[in-house]
Amino acid sequence: MYDIIIIGGGPAGYLAAERAGHGGLKTLLIEKRFIGGVCLNEGCVPSKTLLNSAKILDHAKHGEPYGVTTSGASIDQKAVIARKNKVVRNLVAGIKSQLKASHVTVKEGLGEIVGRQDGIVKVKVGDDVFEAPRLLVASGSEALVPPIPGAKEGLAAGYVLTNREILNLEVIPKTMVIVGGGVIGLEMASYFNSVGAKVTVVEMLDKIAGPTDREISAILQKNYEKKGVTFKLACKVTGLPKGQVEYEEKGVKQSVEADYVLLSVGRRAVTSGFGLENLCVLVERGHIVVDDMGQTNVPGVYATGDVNGVWMLAHVAYRESEVVINNLLGKRDVMRYDAVPSVIYTSPEVGCVGETEESCKAKGIEYRVASVSMNYSGRYMAENAAGDGICKVIVDPVRQRLIGCHIIGSYASEIIIAASILIETEMKVEDIKEFIFPHPTVCEIIREAIFQL
Ligand code: FAD
Repeated sequence: MYDIIIIGGGPAGYLAAERAGHGGLKTLLIEKRFIGGVCLNEGCVPSKTLLNSAKILDHAKHGEPYGVTTSGASIDQKAVIARKNKVVRNLVAGIKSQLKASHVTVKEGLGEIVGRQDGIVKVKVGDDVFEAPRLLVASGSEALVPPIPGAKEGLAAGYVLTNREILNLEVIPKTMVIVGGGVIGLEMASYFNSVGAKVTVVEMLDKIAGPTDREISAILQKNYEKKGVTFKLACKVTGLPKGQVEYEEKGVKQSVEADYVLLSVGRRAVTSGFGLENLCVLVERGHIVVDDMGQTNVPGVYATGDVNGVWMLAHVAYRESEVVINNLLGKRDVMRYDAVPSVIYTSPEVGCVGETEESCKAKGIEYRVASVSMNYSGRYMAENAAGDGICKVIVDPVRQRLIGCHIIGSYASEIIIAASILIETEMKVEDIKEFIFPHPTVCEIIREAIFQL
């Protein structure tokens, strides 16, 4: 008998297992594919590894404004993928040794829920049956394959890709069409644009980057248009015959050439195929329903990470799992989602947290906004010859507290956490003004923006 069984070895599952094992709980972690889940093996880490190679290439090719010229800079896609595999292998090995150090038992295979009787959950892996009074479902998500004619055939033939295949693509296509202009689509558009493919992004909405602040999305789009990416917005893809993407623009049928097509139209929580129904866990709109402590409607059964659909981000998965395990170990803890940072690792990067102007209007929240050019930052100016980034802060004028911050520009991924902390700790604007930021850093831009209020 275990104290807790965890299904899924992605960020939600492995972190929960480490914390539970470390806290003295007898822990079983079941993983059917790879420890590290999507994030380490076919998501966050591989995509950022590729993007770093693109960044080095871009720097080598475009150094003239900084007085640096090089010739013959090129990319070796096979070497990029080989390095990515090495990074992944090393990180996965690190997670495995941490699990071992936390005395977690890891079982490879599909975990199938048999049922729950007298408060004990039974899960089988092959012929082995395991029992525990608590179960954490951390089964994650997978790429959504929309019912577009040709999508399934294209996937089988290998010219239509999801995140899984694109991060192993060893050739640089002449033409690449990205279906879906959300975060994953944009990061891959950025990579393939840098390495020389002709990239087209086809997006159903009238803007890219999903719920990102509209002004920031527009700046990002303009940056990539300048680099040669074509955006087809408010367009619906209608067919994926080999070599083409067919779409409708204002009711008119159009098509664009595509050696490869990336489907990045969203992700689907994994809630079927492993006996979840045997527990009568409440699933709504495809996600397991949980409270702010990760508890489902069934006592002793928890769900964290992508499977609960609250935020599909690895860092949210970590925190949700921490909350579950803290409560199990007797430390009361709850999830708060007001200050979750999100990042798009394009070039320029985008870092966002909290309310946008659009969300304030939709929710009827009174707000004040200040927006400054990133050129207010000396370091940004020194490093960006033609940067057009901005930092936008949104404040609750009554409580005088920061409620949102949106940055497009270099280091946005690294500095957005400063704004998250200011929001999470509900610091007054007057108090924020007293912080001393290191100079010259790009982070100073948050202080500059606050001083505009
Ligand atoms: P997953 O990582 O999906 O892991 C779930 C695991 O459960 C899988 O390994 C699966 O094999 C296993 N499993 C499922 N069912 C069973 C079963 N019955 N038995 C045994 N095992 C099972 N997030 C960020 O925060 N930052 C980023 O930069 C970022 N970039 C991304 C880039 C891409 C291309 C993609 C696709 C995603 C990215 N994400 C990013 C999202 C991030 O990967 C997910 O939010 C994160 O992986 C969720 O973790 P999880 O543990 O909930 O699920």
